[in-house]
Amino acid sequence: MSTDTLNFDQLGLSPAILDAVKEQGYDTPSPIQQQAIPAVLTGKDVMAAAQTGTGKTAGFTLPILELLSQGQRANNNQVRALIVTPTRELAAQVADNVEKYSANLKLSSSVVFGGVKINPQMMRLRRGADVLVATPGRLLDLYGQGAIKFDTLEVLVLDEADRMLDMGFIHDIKKILKILPAKRQNLLFSATFSDDIKALAKGLVNNPVEISVTPPNSTAKTVKQKIYPVDKKQKPALLVRLIEDNNWQQALVFSKTKHGANRLVRYLEENNITAAAIHGNKSQGARTRALADFKSGEIRILVATDIAARGIDIDQLPQVVNFDLPKVAEDYVHRIGRTGRAGASGNAVSLVSHDEAKELFSIERLIGKIIEREYLVEFDPVNRLPESVLDTRPFKLKKPKKPKKPGQKSHSGTAPRGKGQGEHKDGNRGEGSQKKHRAHKPSKPSGPWKKRKPANKSS
Ligand code: AMP
Repeated sequence: MSTDTLNFDQLGLSPAILDAVKEQGYDTPSPIQQQAIPAVLTGKDVMAAAQTGTGKTAGFTLPILELLSQGQRANNNQVRALIVTPTRELAAQVADNVEKYSANLKLSSSVVFGGVKINPQMMRLRRGADVLVATPGRLLDLYGQGAIKFDTLEVLVLDEADRMLDMGFIHDIKKILKILPAKRQNLLFSATFSDDIKALAKGLVNNPVEISVTPPNSTAKTVKQKIYPVDKKQKPALLVRLIEDNNWQQALVFSKTKHGANRLVRYLEENNITAAAIHGNKSQGARTRALADFKSGEIRILVATDIAARGIDIDQLPQVVNFDLPKVAEDYVHRIGRTGRAGASGNAVSLVSHDEAKELFSIERLIGKIIEREYLVEFDPVNRLPESVLDTRPFKLKKPKKPKKPGQKSHSGTAPRGKGQGEHKDGNRGEGSQKKHRAHKPSKPSGPWKKRKPANKSS
């Protein structure tokens, strides 16, 4: 379908919704919106390959609101549209969008996730919600306690389905599908379409409209990418130097491990740079606070692990830093998707030590190009990073190694989910299970990070 010429008012949305979109300052619908909005409005199932940063949330939210505004409001405990997301942050983010886009409509919305008290959520659900955004574990808990009725459910959205499977939510998703009425519209959004996702889709969507907006694993064109070869122990000092030289006021920094994230925050603070960490060992309160402080500009640097960062949506985030390269190449694409969102330009830099050469080459193979290198004299590495040679063989997506057939036991579904995980089962559990799932060796701690000292190449 050609999508060049469509404006928001040509997509079949009513003036109340168009006004809310205008309020957000959006001029033109993004490619996913141009395709998804009319498709969802037809009432058909939709399967969309779209990463965060493409405007996918509005792509499904706007038409859902349009459809819901034409029907009967939700009664007590009823839910008419259910949006399931992998992480608490993404749930909060999507709910925030739903609220903004429905500002001029008589529709109610609510959000539920683990890590916070369940009672206030139960109270809110008593009034019913036309749109409910939820993480899987808490949704099932609330349903088990009779707080939600799905008898009038019209639409189900699985958002970032690939990440949900990575995080071991397959069993929860299957349970959720069983308690929903059979007649409903299903929307499946996923950054990648692995065999696992295809297997899930088979039992979920019926004759779907298929949409794909970015070729899988291509990096946003508006993101400038660069790497700084550096010795591992010099990474913290190099980061401080880059922050200061470039006067970065807001940067999202990715760390491979939770401890690494904490250590880096301490180092930045010692160097008078405000920072906070966001990862699965942090309480929900601490995560929410860190994100709010980052958004308000109170802290300059947010250090995050991959899982925790999923769902962070900060308008026009200018700078992303890979303090460590991710073990799984696709995560690089997700990470740098945090900047240059919906047409805005952004920068992504990676600090790469010689022991990360394999990860770098794998990323370059995935994105199909060699990333430009820059050296800072003081930080020139003693241990040289081997030169890149682009491997042009097609990249085989790894990720879940498991089931070809639906119903077969899935690896990602075997993540421990014992009783007593209680409040942590939504977000925190995923971080642990994903690590396990990818079965890579934990990196060695790089030693205590002291206050910054200029690097000395010859030392
Ligand atoms: P998403 O991919 O849904 O996470 O959205 C990424 C970002 O793009 C969010 O900050 C949205 O507010 C923003 N956005 C969504 N649609 C548009 C649009 N049509 N024009 C400009 N920005 C948009």
